[in-house]
Amino acid sequence: AIPLVVSISTERAALAGVLVKDRAALERTRTVDTVLFDKTGTLTRGTPVLTDVTSTHDHSDDHLLAMAAAAESDSEHPLARAVVTAARRRHLRVPAASDFRASAAVGVTATVEGHTVAVGGPALLTEHGHQPLPATLPWTEAGTTVLHVLIDGRIAGALALADEIRPESREAVDALHALGIQVVMITGDAQSVAEAVAAELGIDQVFAQVRPEHKSEKVVRLQRQNRIVAMVGDGVNDAPALAQADVGIAIGAGTDVAIASAGVILASDDPRSVLSVIQLSRAGYRKMK
Ligand code: ADP
Ligand code: MG
Repeated sequence: AIPLVVSISTERAALAGVLVKDRAALERTRTVDTVLFDKTGTLTRGTPVLTDVTSTHDHSDDHLLAMAAAAESDSEHPLARAVVTAARRRHLRVPAASDFRASAAVGVTATVEGHTVAVGGPALLTEHGHQPLPATLPWTEAGTTVLHVLIDGRIAGALALADEIRPESREAVDALHALGIQVVMITGDAQSVAEAVAAELGIDQVFAQVRPEHKSEKVVRLQRQNRIVAMVGDGVNDAPALAQADVGIAIGAGTDVAIASAGVILASDDPRSVLSVIQLSRAGYRKMK
């Protein structure tokens, strides 16, 4: 049998900024009833900025930020880049760090000036049996990402980092809803941050605090509910989930790993371009009837 996709011109797809690596995946896109978006870098800009600092009495805000920046200096994570950039903007002297260790979905640890400095999210606090500093509770309520800084295992302070929702994301979610498609979001970020973003965008369902290695299990969970899932992501984190989804869509420049695992690659980082893929697939199918 002639595959349905023969009617979808690769050139037409390319004009829409859609690079088709797997034509069967593009054909399946017309049956998708659930789109699962990665949050960071996909629905949000993925370049957070430091908005607040709080420190315990032994430390000044600047000293805390300098120690955190030292520990984060070897990390490629967007949150780490934001911490280092903030320290640089304040012209702080950032000490050298050694014994750097990163733990996905937790944070980083390094030795700085003879002290063990750890920077991370809720999972780091849980690991050490700490509660968040009371000063961070309003940040969390506002949907800001909170990183605590531990020095020699004790909480020395915390940082608030805000990532901007892309202005196009709301429109993308509305357009998917208009097509009868459910929109789900997945993130390694805290539940509170995920819920704030989901509420603002009108997203139907959220998976938060998901470790990178568990993202593909969430795809399987949706598929067990007989859903046909398109996963949209950009990060190294997302590669197994992109491969597991019925349609894997890598967005923007993405990472090489994400691109390798996706059936469809979007040139633009505009989340609305997912609609172009669905429209191409549906138009191609109609033509064959
Ligand atoms: P996402 O799914 O949003 O891309 P990640 O899995 O990369 O998230 O990270 C999840 C969480 O792990 C972050 O929100 C943060 O709490 C923590 N984390 C990961 N890397 C770092 C780091 N370098 N510094 C501080 N926290 C980190
Ligand atoms: Mg990500």
